[in-house]
Amino acid sequence: MSTVKEFNPKEQPQWCPGCGNFGIIMALRSALSKTERNTHETVIVSGIGCSGKSSHYVRSYGFESLHGRVLPVATGVKLSNKKLTVIGMGGDGDGYGIGLNHFIHLCRRNLDITYIVHNNSIYGLTTGQVSPVSMKGMKTKSTPHGVIEQPIHQLALAITSDATFVARGYAGNMAQLSEIFQQAINHKGIAIVDVLQECPSWNKVNTKEWIQQRIYNLNETGHDITNRDLAYKKAMEDVESKYEKIPTGIFYKVDKPTYGDELPQIKDKELVEHDLDSIDLTKTLKKYI
Ligand code: SF4
Repeated sequence: MSTVKEFNPKEQPQWCPGCGNFGIIMALRSALSKTERNTHETVIVSGIGCSGKSSHYVRSYGFESLHGRVLPVATGVKLSNKKLTVIGMGGDGDGYGIGLNHFIHLCRRNLDITYIVHNNSIYGLTTGQVSPVSMKGMKTKSTPHGVIEQPIHQLALAITSDATFVARGYAGNMAQLSEIFQQAINHKGIAIVDVLQECPSWNKVNTKEWIQQRIYNLNETGHDITNRDLAYKKAMEDVESKYEKIPTGIFYKVDKPTYGDELPQIKDKELVEHDLDSIDLTKTLKKYI
């Protein structure tokens, strides 16, 4: 297994001072080490946005993909070699906006991937426009009169799309976040972890104080993580309580066969271990000549 130090790259993160991304990346390195992963068997796939730099800030294999395309790339990596630990990382704009279609299909496929969403409720890299999870009424650069639409209910959507592990963490609570990441990485199947994070540069509403006054640990209340109906109810609590109460922790967990366990071509042998030299494509190619 690799130590936390071995997961630290030489490069120092270049995010704004006070950004929640620092807590997320430190919690992830700690979780990878505690779950006894190795740097050479871990792949971080990121998208575009401030969180896109995440694949640079963990010493492992990495791929910085296109905006909203974290999950197709992560899917390809996992299907080619199921032995790898694959972590997708993106922002709320990336994952719940342009990438939302992939999000739903990833949940229902139950691929053995951990997907971490850096949720600062705003587009930070492009200097403060509305995101799909910005609160109704929130004033941003692109919504100067306030957001008209309802936000995406991302955790409820994950639960109804059959994700088998659904959680929410907070970037400012490293101990809880590392524990959630460890359970997500060890979960056999899709693990969705939405992480509330501050963006002190552009989100002046959902500040550190705002978040800390509202969050509570669901797993300290006797919550049954196997009860899907209850998990859905808790996933809607933030919006339905008008953001008076925001639960964090593990909402839902169930064990089901993964996509990789059921796909006949890779069920018993990794794609990268197949003998491609003995496959004769001549007959197939002739059809197209
Ligand atoms: Fe973090 Fe916001 Fe700065 Fe991006 S713009 S690095 S999210 S504080």
